[in-house]
Amino acid sequence: MADEKRLSLNAWVDKDKKRVVFAEADSDFIDVLFSFLTLPLGTIIKLLSNKSGLGCFDNLYDSIKQLSDQHFSIEACKNMLLSPCSAAAEYYDKLKLNVYGTREFYYCKMDDCISRTRCYYSSVWQTRCYHCGNFMDGVVRWRNDETKDAVFVKKNGTKFMITDDFRVTQSSVSECYDRLKELGVKDINLLEEWLLEFGREELLNLLKVSLRTKEALTNICFPDSCLQYTSPQRNKWMDMIMNKSKGNAEFEIQEMLIRLIVNRTNNKVVCAELGKEFADQLLSFLTFPLGSLLKLIGYSDSFGCMSNLYDSIHELEIKYFKSEKAKSMLISPKLAPFFGYRKQMLYMEESSPLVPSSLAGCQKCYWDNNNSPCSTVCCKHGVQQSHFIEMDPMLAKADTYMDEGFVRSDQNFLVKDDLHVTPMSILYFIQILKGQGLHVNHLEYGEMVLERAQVYNLLEAMLISKTALSDAISSRK
Ligand SMILES: [Zn+2]
Repeated sequence: MADEKRLSLNAWVDKDKKRVVFAEADSDFIDVLFSFLTLPLGTIIKLLSNKSGLGCFDNLYDSIKQLSDQHFSIEACKNMLLSPCSAAAEYYDKLKLNVYGTREFYYCKMDDCISRTRCYYSSVWQTRCYHCGNFMDGVVRWRNDETKDAVFVKKNGTKFMITDDFRVTQSSVSECYDRLKELGVKDINLLEEWLLEFGREELLNLLKVSLRTKEALTNICFPDSCLQYTSPQRNKWMDMIMNKSKGNAEFEIQEMLIRLIVNRTNNKVVCAELGKEFADQLLSFLTFPLGSLLKLIGYSDSFGCMSNLYDSIHELEIKYFKSEKAKSMLISPKLAPFFGYRKQMLYMEESSPLVPSSLAGCQKCYWDNNNSPCSTVCCKHGVQQSHFIEMDPMLAKADTYMDEGFVRSDQNFLVKDDLHVTPMSILYFIQILKGQGLHVNHLEYGEMVLERAQVYNLLEAMLISKTALSDAISSRK
C-alpha cells in the first residue's frame, strides 16, 4: 500500500560484529511495542499465521481450527479461541500504526430485534441474538477514534532507548554509556546510524522475532545471519505458585484427572485423554494476554525479548505513561469482557464490559438516519430511548447459560505430547501409535491428578517446549 503509515526507529549498528547496539524511538513506536503485551496468545498466533514459535501453542491453535463446531458448547466459542478479543482493543485504534486492523462488532439485523429499547451487540463472530436466537450477522466497524493522542506513553517528544533485547528506558547519557561499555564498543566511529522503517508487515515480523530471540533488532537488520534462539530455562516453578491463586472459590476446581499413555522406553507421554474440564482449561490459555503470562509465570529467560519489555514497563516511571490505568493495562493485562472461564484454575482477571450507551430513538433509526439519533420524541418504532449492550457470547437465548466453558460436556479429546488435539476416537489413537512406530509392550497406561501447581507447570511447558505434557508431568513421576 502506497499510503501505509510507517513508524521509524534510529538504530546504531556495529557493522563489523553485525549487531544493533541500541536504537532510539519516540512514543509512537513505543506504544506499538508495548501493545504486544496486551495481545491474547490466540491473537498473536493468528497475526503470525500459526508461526509464533511459542512452544506447543501453534499446534493447539491449529487443532482448534480443525475441530468442527459440534465439539464446542456454542459456535461462538471456537471464534473466542481463534480470535480472542483484547481488553485493550479500544487503545489500538489510537496507535499511529494500528497493526491489528479495525475493530468490528456484530448485531442482529432483524427489524424486530434492533428496534427495541434494549439491543445487543457482540465482539465475537457467530454470537446468537438474545431476542431471536439467530446469528448476529450484521457487521459494523467501530468508529475510529481519529484523535491520535497518547496511547500508553505520553506524547511529549520524549525519546526512548531500546536495546537489542527490548530493554526500554528513557534516552539518557548514562543508559547510552552503560550500553556501550556493556558491549565493549570502543570506537564510536565504527557505529553506523540506520533508519529503520516499519509498516504493518515489518512490525509483525518484529513481534515474531522478539518472541524467539534476544537479538530482535539485530535480526531485523541482518536477517540472513543465523537466528539465535533463546534456550528457555525452566524455573523452580514450585516456589512461584504460592500466593498466586485467588480464584473464584465458589466455582474453581482444585484438580483434574488426566489419562496418559506413556512410552516406557523414554518415559515420554505419547498421548493423553482429556475430559471437558481439562480441555476447557487448556483451550482457555489462548485467551490469556501475553503480559498476563509474564506476570503469572514471572521469570525472565523465556519469550525472547518479551520479559525484558515487561520488566522495562515495570521499571519505567509513571511520569512517562499517559496514566496509571495505561501502565496497569500493560503490566496486569486482563481478559476481554466475557472471556473469563469460571472454573479457571489459574487466577486471571476479566475486564468489565463497556457501560451501555443510550440513544434517543432506536438503533435501527439511528443507522437508517446515517448515524444520527431521532429528532422526534419517539421514533417511528415507538422507542424513546434505547441502550446498546454488549452481550456475553455464551449467553445464547433468554438468559439460559449454555454449557459452562468452551467445549461440549459430553466430549473427550485426545492430545499428543506436542498439544495437537483431536476428538477422542480409536482411529486417531491408533494413528498416533502407528505414526510413532510404537510397540504395545513399550506402553504404559496411567491416570494422574493434576493440581494447580501442575497446571502452572503445564502452561509454562506449553510456552517453551515442544513436548509439553512430558515436561509438565515428568517433574511429578
Ligand atoms: Zn435477532
